[in-house]
Amino acid sequence: MNKKMLAELTGMTQDHLIFHKDLNCHIHKKIFQPLSDLATHLEKNQFKLHIVSSFRSYEHQKRIWEEKVSGKRILLDEFELPVDVKKIGPTNLLFSILNWSMIPGFSRHHLGSDLDVCDTRKLAPDYQIKLTNEECAAEGPFHKFHAFLDELIENDECYGFFRPYTGLSRGVKPERWHLSHQEVSNSYLSQLSLEVFTNFIDHSDLSLKKEILDHAEIIFNQFIKP
Ligand SMILES: [Zn+2]
Repeated sequence: MNKKMLAELTGMTQDHLIFHKDLNCHIHKKIFQPLSDLATHLEKNQFKLHIVSSFRSYEHQKRIWEEKVSGKRILLDEFELPVDVKKIGPTNLLFSILNWSMIPGFSRHHLGSDLDVCDTRKLAPDYQIKLTNEECAAEGPFHKFHAFLDELIENDECYGFFRPYTGLSRGVKPERWHLSHQEVSNSYLSQLSLEVFTNFIDHSDLSLKKEILDHAEIIFNQFIKP
């Protein structure tokens, strides 16, 4: 993998991004048009696409990581219940964090092709968006929106976007709010190898670095490899 691509993949640069004024977010240049088209299509169907999170830098992801390791940021288990980080060992801690947060350098959010989305058309102005599966399930405020997206994706009419975290084949729990532009994200992730991963971690100063390297192959296969 060349240097430019590695920098983009790992969130070390913003050269690949553009600001989308209407949607108020930084995204990969190549998804500007498909995302605009998706927003327009949703609008026509009575939904208002809201981007909760798009590009995230390495530094930002590292802040999340370190806050989860230290217990400063709430850590949820696979049932979305809080975990006491003081009571579990470092390896369990690592895998608990990996349920919901990726290791800095390997978040799909570095790519600019991946987005956390919801629909704000009928949302109360003081509603606090949490991004939980409960919000997306029946009775949840985003259920109709995600059901509509499901249909678009199923019919291959979602402008190239898909859901990478279905909870079926990967270690990461289902995240119905997370959309990815398949072609753009694959252009990066298809070049990623176990060697690139371990090399990068080896040169980092992340908390739980030793545990990550000890379980590098499992982590790579379960959580990172597309
Ligand atoms: Zn996401």
